[in-house]
Amino acid sequence: MHEHDHSSTECSPDSHTSLGRRELLRGAVVLGIGAAGATIAAPAGAAAARTADAPPSLAPDPEAPADAPPGALAGVEVAAPTIASCATWGAAAARGTIDTVAANPNKILIHHTASANVTDYSQAAGYQIARDIQQWHFANGWVDTGQHLTLSRGGYVMEGRHGSLSRLQNGSGTVVGAHAPGQNSQAIGIENQGTYTSATPPAQLWSRLVELCAYICDQYGIAPTQIYGHRDYTATACPGDVLYSMLPQLRSEVAAALAGTSWSVIVDNTSAGFSAGSAWLASSFSGERYGADYRYATPAEVSDLATYSATIPSSGSYRVEAWFPGIAGYNTSTPFIVYTGTGSSTIRVDQSAGGGAWLSLGTYAMTAGTRTVVAVSRWTQGTAYVVADAIRITRL
Ligand SMILES: [Zn+2]
Repeated sequence: MHEHDHSSTECSPDSHTSLGRRELLRGAVVLGIGAAGATIAAPAGAAAARTADAPPSLAPDPEAPADAPPGALAGVEVAAPTIASCATWGAAAARGTIDTVAANPNKILIHHTASANVTDYSQAAGYQIARDIQQWHFANGWVDTGQHLTLSRGGYVMEGRHGSLSRLQNGSGTVVGAHAPGQNSQAIGIENQGTYTSATPPAQLWSRLVELCAYICDQYGIAPTQIYGHRDYTATACPGDVLYSMLPQLRSEVAAALAGTSWSVIVDNTSAGFSAGSAWLASSFSGERYGADYRYATPAEVSDLATYSATIPSSGSYRVEAWFPGIAGYNTSTPFIVYTGTGSSTIRVDQSAGGGAWLSLGTYAMTAGTRTVVAVSRWTQGTAYVVADAIRITRL
């Protein structure tokens, strides 16, 4: 107990956290103000609560181009995701002794950084958030980054506290973190960049989080049921209502990945499986696009489909989702056609709002084979553009 980490309740990037406040929080039972400013009561058994100050601004460089999300995720296996070491992302040296534990951790705790929901999804931006977090945690008086692993909104995974990665790769023991009091020597802490009180995590962050958790569970022998939110152990809004509400889905998808039954594919409009005629023009106008750009066309009573082809690996139940930028002025009734192998269904999608996230087109019984699985039609009313961006197919 030679540093504050063990009793700390912090996980958000409070670079200006005062020593006085930290001391106040140590062991005290108080009512907390969540990261979003909502007052939450300390749950039974919670040792302490926190007052999360507004995080520092993390506005992306407006000059920086938005990179394509890394890797269309074809298949979620228990393969090791690429994890950038402290040396790779440019960590400063630790400022004190980092304790270690020989026993394997028994759970994973999910956090959000309570910082800005940046739209710069580049690797460079991911490495920068890792460096920023380390400085914020130094300012807390901690010896190093508090969490074991960091995940950027672009889906880049980075080592947090020095020593976390080699032990994870060896599947033996860990370093004592500083991300949740009472759990720092037995829970792997993952900080997800962003604020998920009302926003949904980007698809590329989510896919990587599933992959990362599956890898951690596999390496340490942790059951996927042992994935929790920070708030389960500390009176805090972390990891935000939306991300917290997705933890059952996370456990389920991690379990599927560990069972080797999970399969998912993303077909973007720049992927080989996409095809569209010359009336479908490319645009990068909206920041809510998936990848570099998307296609748009004017409505017309013609058979001129933008099509997405994929290989369905086996007959079974699949969820089909679409990603598109939602802008006032885009069509409110764009026809999406889903082909199951034995028939088709048309779903009307309002593309004037609600974009920049995966929208479910439903669950379908599909037969195996390579074919057009989804198409976007121009055959609808009005003059507002219909948009074809990316689709995702996931075996259930
Ligand atoms: Zn947290």
